[in-house]
Amino acid sequence: MDNERINTALRDATDTRSVIIGAGVIASVDHVFAQSFGDQPAVVVADENTFAVAGKAVYQRLQAAGRKLIEPFVFPGQPTLYADYRNVLKLGEALRAHDAIPVAVGSGTLNDITKLASYECGRQYMVAATAASMDGYTAFGAAITREGYKQTMTCPAPRAVLADLDILVHAPPKMTASGYADLLGKVTAGADWLIADALEVEPIDPHVWSLVQGPLREWTARPAELRAGDQQATEHLIEGLIMAGLAMQAAASSRPASGSEHQFSHLWEMEGLGHGDHGEPPLSHGFKVGVGSIAIAALYERVLMRDFSSLDIQAICRAWPTRAEVEQMVRAAHSTPGLLENAINESLIKYVDADQLTQRLALLGDRWPALGEWLAAQLMTADHLRGLLRAAGCPIGPADIGLGLPEFKATYHRAQQIRRRYTVLDLAVQTGLLTECVDELFAPGGFWSTAPHA
Ligand SMILES: [Zn+2]
Repeated sequence: MDNERINTALRDATDTRSVIIGAGVIASVDHVFAQSFGDQPAVVVADENTFAVAGKAVYQRLQAAGRKLIEPFVFPGQPTLYADYRNVLKLGEALRAHDAIPVAVGSGTLNDITKLASYECGRQYMVAATAASMDGYTAFGAAITREGYKQTMTCPAPRAVLADLDILVHAPPKMTASGYADLLGKVTAGADWLIADALEVEPIDPHVWSLVQGPLREWTARPAELRAGDQQATEHLIEGLIMAGLAMQAAASSRPASGSEHQFSHLWEMEGLGHGDHGEPPLSHGFKVGVGSIAIAALYERVLMRDFSSLDIQAICRAWPTRAEVEQMVRAAHSTPGLLENAINESLIKYVDADQLTQRLALLGDRWPALGEWLAAQLMTADHLRGLLRAAGCPIGPADIGLGLPEFKATYHRAQQIRRRYTVLDLAVQTGLLTECVDELFAPGGFWSTAPHA
């Protein structure tokens, strides 16, 4: 199936050459493989679950086409496979015994393990998706846990991606819902980029912007149908997720797909939120992003009520902390090893002194109210986002993800510190409004004190 949007995005993608989305496209796996890798041998990489769902069919199609094949590499189905570096080493060891091109059959974890193991063996690879569960299929880099610390390790995206809708519509409903939440998070991510662009921190590339933000509302418009297994809604979802990855390739940055809602998710992830004591799978990336999006949209509502064209810049700058004070605040807010050092580093990298802050706030005053109008046009209300996520079957509040209100409230302050990326959290900090706005959200009658499932 020819997809014009995907083809446009592929022109600027650095690693991925072909993306095939459609019902029954698994049948063309050998054709797609041959386009990228000629007559090289192939090795299917799966776990017992994904091998049963699609890996076996992929293997048989390649075999029927006369492709030279290595015996499939299949991870155990139980316990749930983790994106742990030890699994990367295991796969890498097997790959070094031959020169076959890996064909990963799975979703986030399998794709990330295969992505990194292939890279470490100096090999390209392709992936056949089994769930529309996150936007990492076509993203460069793999989210891998190494020595207990989750990190994004640099490695190229797959050469080719096959997304068979007949398989995706039958994926576990939680996985599809997770992908939906990851895609819907691009609403607040886009708003954050608008701020960073207006304040001349990180300019928007209009072409890259349009790849994700252009069709975003169309892709996310039908959560209830998606939940019911509707094929077109599933196609919209996987297209959006794949486009987000291609936009990241074109930008050589995750900026087009990730803003402050992802900082909420990253913080919770690094602190092990949702990792049960009984070996149950952790709370998905998308589910954390979805709750983060609601939280950020609610913050935006408070922020957008302010008039930034009449700030008392001198008073704000007088109260502005020094570098040393910022470091102290970060130390007081974090204790997880690895995360703490990272947060100090990121916070100091984006630190501006009082003079630089004066200039930035003057710029903000100049760009307001136009920036406020762009943000209002870009955003959805927190209520609207919550309704969409609920319809898709996603968690919608702190209680759903095992957090109390005080911890959830603290996330607004702590998430700002873990990444240098400029977002609405930084805008709120630098205008001296974060505490006030967050307090409003949790005060009687505020968004989170009246929220269902809070
Ligand atoms: Zn994401």
